[in-house]
Amino acid sequence: MNKPALLVVDDDPQVLAAVRRDLRGRYRESYMVVSAASGEEALATIRELKARGDALALVISDQRMPGMQGTDLLAESRDTYPQARRVLLTAYSDVDAAIKAINVAHLDHYLSKPWDPPEECLFPVIDDLLDGWQAEYLPEAKGLRLVGHQWSPRSHAIKDFLAGNLLPYRWLDVERSADARTLIAAAGIPTGELPALFFEDGAALRNPEPRQVAERLGRSVSAALNLYDLVIVGAGPSGLAAAVYGASEGLKTLLLDRHAPGGQAGSSSKIENYLGFPAGVSGSELTRRAVAQAQRLGAELLVPVEVTGVSIDAGYKHLTLSDGREILTRTLVAATGMEYREHPAAGVSTYTGAGVYYGAATTEASVCGNQKVLVVGGGNSAGQAAMHLSRYASDVQIVIRRDSLRDSMSRYLIDQIEKTPNIRLCGRTEVERVEGGDHVERVALKRDDGAIVVQDVNAIFVFIGTRPRSAWLPDAVLRDDKGFVITGRDLPADGRYARTWKERREPMALETSAPGVFAAGDLRAGAMNRVASAVGEGSMAVRFVHEYLALT
Ligand SMILES: Cc1cc2nc3c(=O)[nH]c(=O)nc-3n(C[C@H](O)[C@H](O)[C@H](O)COP(=O)(O)OP(=O)(O)OC[C@H]3O[C@@H](n4cnc5c(N)ncnc54)[C@H](O)[C@@H]3O)c2cc1C
Repeated sequence: MNKPALLVVDDDPQVLAAVRRDLRGRYRESYMVVSAASGEEALATIRELKARGDALALVISDQRMPGMQGTDLLAESRDTYPQARRVLLTAYSDVDAAIKAINVAHLDHYLSKPWDPPEECLFPVIDDLLDGWQAEYLPEAKGLRLVGHQWSPRSHAIKDFLAGNLLPYRWLDVERSADARTLIAAAGIPTGELPALFFEDGAALRNPEPRQVAERLGRSVSAALNLYDLVIVGAGPSGLAAAVYGASEGLKTLLLDRHAPGGQAGSSSKIENYLGFPAGVSGSELTRRAVAQAQRLGAELLVPVEVTGVSIDAGYKHLTLSDGREILTRTLVAATGMEYREHPAAGVSTYTGAGVYYGAATTEASVCGNQKVLVVGGGNSAGQAAMHLSRYASDVQIVIRRDSLRDSMSRYLIDQIEKTPNIRLCGRTEVERVEGGDHVERVALKRDDGAIVVQDVNAIFVFIGTRPRSAWLPDAVLRDDKGFVITGRDLPADGRYARTWKERREPMALETSAPGVFAAGDLRAGAMNRVASAVGEGSMAVRFVHEYLALT
């Protein structure tokens, strides 16, 4: 197989030669640079690369070309190489058009001409995009292969763990893939012991727990120190931000997560409102960057590790883990966010993981090809999921109780949904019942006039009813009636405060009613439920951690 390709497209021979020269100069060791003088020629090149089995990492295209425009080419290239990064070359006068085309063409970046000097204006952008592509790219014959039954909850759990932890893997459905059957026959694994995870060296784990997978991949699941300055529970945006600040400011910092870094944001197919990413950023890309940053600055990350309890003794916080081990710390940031509440309709619990998924649209989307899927919920997370699923499924139906998305979803998402022909809105409706054999096959929907309609459906993605993950915290940490953690100035107003808070000082902002235990992000009562606010609170919490440590 050839090196992965970088494709440059421009009808101006001088510009084409200049980009080609710059890219070859820097990337020829690892990539082959190919070029085309028009959109049509570029599409032919893309087809050729595909036919040869070559990988395409990046397409850089000029916008204004006779015939096919750059944005159209970039949009079309997605069908053949969905993971390739897409960059539009624009003149200053076309920047507005480029911004408007971000969604349509799924642009990762736009570059204004000229890009001199390339060391400052071109290479940093391309380096960053290629890093992101490399993190997702899996050469045909290499890497992890997961063999299992499509509708098995166990297979879903491992897929979700691998995807959440940014471990590229190839999914092989044992019913559909001859390779899968050959692989398990050669390893002597009966289908009753699936899923099986095959490693590059040919070894396999049968029906593994996520923790076994992490250990087999050499990931640390045990704490290195006996005592930490700061332990952060939950590696969503707020926990990751706290880890970056804690470690960069010299605190012995440990970050734990029961599932994978990224939290809810990690499951987002595209976050469009986080500052500094004009073309949007996927949750997995943001997580990849944040994890690299936290670890580079010295934070220790343990995944999957679940905290089940905390006891506090003479200011020291003893965390109990689900496997009975303990971790000791001087301060604690609780950043365990929210999770979706189980949908109450009949049949939902039977099919969870076998066609009913909670917030897992990115993990399962690629196997929804030409299928009918339902998205339940009208918030931004549901809207993003519907947009993402519409690229794979033939029919995406959004089911909501209200009659419109107007009051629950951002305008930019409503606009995108309205322009997507295979997404339908089904208002004033609820899921009444889910039915099927070994996986979801039908759903009964109830309209607000009482009428029930039964429809064939292959998968249901649930995005309603969130609850805080606060059950692991001790009673000394006061929560509101929904379970969200009360912090800072909101504490004195609570009737239980005087009985609970025994310090001479007032609680600091983000401090809970247990001194030295802070809460950040969606877990906190009054949180904004945004990536940016979670990141802000995680960063702020570390400032108060310092103040607390200075007092003790
Ligand atoms: C699909 C989707 C799309 C979204 N899109 C956007 C968007 O475009 N823009 C935006 O601003 N916001 C968006 N949001 C909201 C945003 O993602 C959240 O507000 C944000 O992730 C909250 O961050 P957090 O760190 O507080 O908590 P979370 O992201 O919920 O992370 C909490 C982490 O804690 C871990 N954890 C829980 N319990 C334990 C335990 N006992 N032990 C160890 N670890 C534990 C969990 O595994 C999880 O990783 C979206 C949310 C979803 C679900």
